[in-house]
Amino acid sequence: MIDNLPPLRDVITTHDLRAKKQLGQNFLLDLNLTSKIARLAGDLENCDVLEVGPGPGGLTRGLLAHGARHILAIEKDPRAIPALEEIAAAYPGRLTIINGDALDVNPLDHLTGPIRIAANLPYNIGTELLIRWLTPRDWPPFWQSLTLMFQKEVAERIVATPGSKAYGRLALLSQWRADARIVMHLPPEAFVPAPKVHSAVVHLTALPKPRYPADPSVLSQVTGAAFNQRRKMLRASLKGLHPQVEDLLNACDIPPTARAEEIELERFCALARALATARAAG
Ligand code: SAM
Repeated sequence: MIDNLPPLRDVITTHDLRAKKQLGQNFLLDLNLTSKIARLAGDLENCDVLEVGPGPGGLTRGLLAHGARHILAIEKDPRAIPALEEIAAAYPGRLTIINGDALDVNPLDHLTGPIRIAANLPYNIGTELLIRWLTPRDWPPFWQSLTLMFQKEVAERIVATPGSKAYGRLALLSQWRADARIVMHLPPEAFVPAPKVHSAVVHLTALPKPRYPADPSVLSQVTGAAFNQRRKMLRASLKGLHPQVEDLLNACDIPPTARAEEIELERFCALARALATARAAG
């Protein structure tokens, strides 16, 4: 037992929280499991935590029991708010609840650093939020770590290495400015209702600075063009970026006949730097 609050199945019944598909609701009702995810989020004692989509509050309770200093929980479904308020009452001053869309809320209006993010995300907005958290203009970002549940295939794209089918922009984006690891696998039966897919928790830690230097928007142009036509040779897919793109590729030790999925992050960053220099030289 992690707290004196009622079991989550009772919370669901009391508040009539029947899962709604359009809100991506697949709840974790086993508090042992949510405690484990909270532990994977790291040391929370001196951290504020942003939680997106707390639903009936299983992970929220895990995070609070694990010592989170203060949690901002953003939940779109108004039916879940009374259940979350019961948790807030059991942990006075440590849980702020917002009934709204996580895409519209600025967490920094409510939290102070250091900040960790932990969430069993609604799958429909999971990737969008991840990309948003990974692409601020300035680095390091407002968060120290992200501990996020994804559909297994998305988790595999985040940690993918060159040469694999899953390797692409999401891997490069995640690994350029963060360390990313899959820390837990969950079968469909871990959720109520059980989704059709398997899930995995990914833990990302923000690096103090990007792994290799590059201008974020040039790197994004290069990887965007390269992976939008991932079956093409790079000399063809990157043709539109610069008239002498083949020379730039050669200078970065990238065979112009290679395909995007063969090229590791370090050489994409080198190419982004070479492209920026060539453009500046006119
Ligand atoms: N964290 C809970 C758990 O582990 O049992 C619920 C997880 S469920 C997969 C996703 C939750 O996100 C649901 O409670 C859903 O209502 C909420 N949600 C969906 N879209 C949202 C949005 N745009 N902003 C905030 N919450 C959202």
